[in-house]
Amino acid sequence: MARPNLLFIMSDDHAAHAIGAYGSVINETPHLDRIAADGMLFDNCFCTNSICTPSRAAVLTGTYNHVNRVTTLKTHMDNSLVTFPKLLRAAGYQTAMVGKWHLGHGPEHDPTGFDFWRVLPGQGHYHNPVMLQGRMDGRPGYDVVERGGYVTELITDDCIDWLDRTEPNRPWMLMMHHKAPHRTWEPSRKHFSLYDDVEIPEPDTMFDDHETRAAVVQAMEMRLMDLDPIIDLKAEVPAGLDHQAEVKWRYQRYIKDYLRTIASIDDSVGQMLDYLDATGQADDTVVVYTSDQGFFLGDHGWFDKRLMYEESLQMPFLIRYPKLIEGASLHEGMVLNVDFAPTFCELAGVEVPAEMQGTSFVPLLAGESPESWRTSMYYRYWMHRDENHNVPAHYGVRTLTHKLICYYNDPLGQTGANGPIDPMEWELFDLEADPLETTNVYGRPEYASAQAALKGELVRLQAEVGDDPYVAS
Ligand code: CA
Repeated sequence: MARPNLLFIMSDDHAAHAIGAYGSVINETPHLDRIAADGMLFDNCFCTNSICTPSRAAVLTGTYNHVNRVTTLKTHMDNSLVTFPKLLRAAGYQTAMVGKWHLGHGPEHDPTGFDFWRVLPGQGHYHNPVMLQGRMDGRPGYDVVERGGYVTELITDDCIDWLDRTEPNRPWMLMMHHKAPHRTWEPSRKHFSLYDDVEIPEPDTMFDDHETRAAVVQAMEMRLMDLDPIIDLKAEVPAGLDHQAEVKWRYQRYIKDYLRTIASIDDSVGQMLDYLDATGQADDTVVVYTSDQGFFLGDHGWFDKRLMYEESLQMPFLIRYPKLIEGASLHEGMVLNVDFAPTFCELAGVEVPAEMQGTSFVPLLAGESPESWRTSMYYRYWMHRDENHNVPAHYGVRTLTHKLICYYNDPLGQTGANGPIDPMEWELFDLEADPLETTNVYGRPEYASAQAALKGELVRLQAEVGDDPYVAS
């Protein structure tokens, strides 16, 4: 089989439950759904750390964050690490990276492994964004590109321009990284008034009271009531609303802009698919759509991500490649962001290097469900009670049926709503009986054996990936 091209489209904070193919009840994404209709939808694709910069490092390197050392938003990637773009480029691929990089800037952090890169500085801006373009003449550093326009459309134009310049006889790999739908959720002019006259359905758990949950989870500042001043709601809260009415108002206020920025992404995906059709490359190109992690869309009363709960843990993953993948197929195998790099290597006919910890899921793309495939995954969020959201550091294990989370809090004598917080807290969810994760059953006698097995699995997974359990200092 000839080596395929790879169009890797990754957005920022796009939760699966805001994609039509995943059953969204809050928006429509006809072009994203085309990838699912012609390819495969993964229903259990998870990130190993639900935060932007670390997930990007895991995608590029195929390693967990304690190995690539990009554990938090404040750590940047060492660009001398082995990444799949470098390997594909060395194997003859034409490679490019356009859009949000978010892994640091400067000689040690700028993108490497690309013939062409043009990226947003840091988070970048939605409107009239400057971009940084690597100098491709051997000089170090980058030039600043200044233009007017909307970020999702500019990234799309840049991607098509680059594809127009590729040589026809060598395969290409393009990383198209959208800024949207990351906050501060500024739509394009085209979508300013989309959803003006509709009420977006609320999630079932919007008024979750967090009873039974860890005290550090109850103390988080990630509720819809915490949206501002983190986010400018661009409106005064109407006078006279009671608490419930204000939560509902805040939800509508933010979710509409979030979905408007996704509408532009969907348009962009349509443009890219049309481009592949028009240039006769659709059959020879692997198209992937994913996001660096999920997002709470008012679920549990929260916005943002970070936690190991399903809405945040799940990454959308749609993939199309007619030569290998059956159309309109669904795979429930558990795949992780660390698996992407080895999978792309195998698709490109490149040997997967020993450094990569993930596993190629090419057999799953072919419709197989190997008996030896993983039935559990390891997760770790490292940022402890950061200034914006007060989310505690934690690690845990998710199996096909359960989830165990350990909040290994620093014993700082913290105080939660119900008094001092224990230095270590646990949550256990029965995903079959309680798929929305509203009841923490940790410590309940009927779960004693499941709990012990999960603790054993957590230890086993930590040893397998080479991470160390937290030890209080
Ligand atoms: Ca993100």
